[in-house]
Amino acid sequence: MCNHASADHRGDIGMETAELTRCFLLCNTEGVDVHIHVVGDRSFRTACDAVEAARNELAATGDAWRIQVTLAHCELVDPADMHRPAELGIIVNWTTHWSGAYFGEAAKKHLGDERWDRMYRFNEIAESGALLTFSSDVVTSYELHRSNPLFGMQVAATRVDPDTRSPPACIRVALGQRRTPGFPVSCCWPDTRSTAPSNCVWRTRSGHWRLERSRICAF
Ligand SMILES: [Zn+2]
Repeated sequence: MCNHASADHRGDIGMETAELTRCFLLCNTEGVDVHIHVVGDRSFRTACDAVEAARNELAATGDAWRIQVTLAHCELVDPADMHRPAELGIIVNWTTHWSGAYFGEAAKKHLGDERWDRMYRFNEIAESGALLTFSSDVVTSYELHRSNPLFGMQVAATRVDPDTRSPPACIRVALGQRRTPGFPVSCCWPDTRSTAPSNCVWRTRSGHWRLERSRICAF
């Protein structure tokens, strides 16, 4: 999805369901695992539909599903599809260091507010029983430090990008303002430039938010 695309452009997709199903069947015959990079809700659903169709076709012929399908990124998943990775045996590979608003708000004009607010929601996928893995997808030297697993784990937990130090979505949630992508179950905004206490937002077990200042944030 590019900034120069028209506002009604919905993005392109590399393969439709039928072609991807044939690919899965071919890979299953040859014993080749498949790793696909998907970004939007349409591509996520297409991939799930293709896995389901391939597995059903194999089951109908008495053949076995032998390969592992992994979907990387998965930045926007329709709520109706959150449970499907667990049911279909798909690994969801979360590019965690993107989840602190790394790409800014450019996608909002294409997705609209409602879907933009639902980006980077991985809790439901994990809670449904799917295997969730972390990775960086870093392929450039200027981003190399972002491939550090600890960097990714920090952004996964805080949803705050240490490079851009974008305003923490969770704090705006706590203040009753509109959500931004990927609001977490709990988070904090650590001030990495000093040892001063950080603003921390916690979501309690009862679902309430509370804001406090603390030197240590644990999740
Ligand atoms: Zn990618």
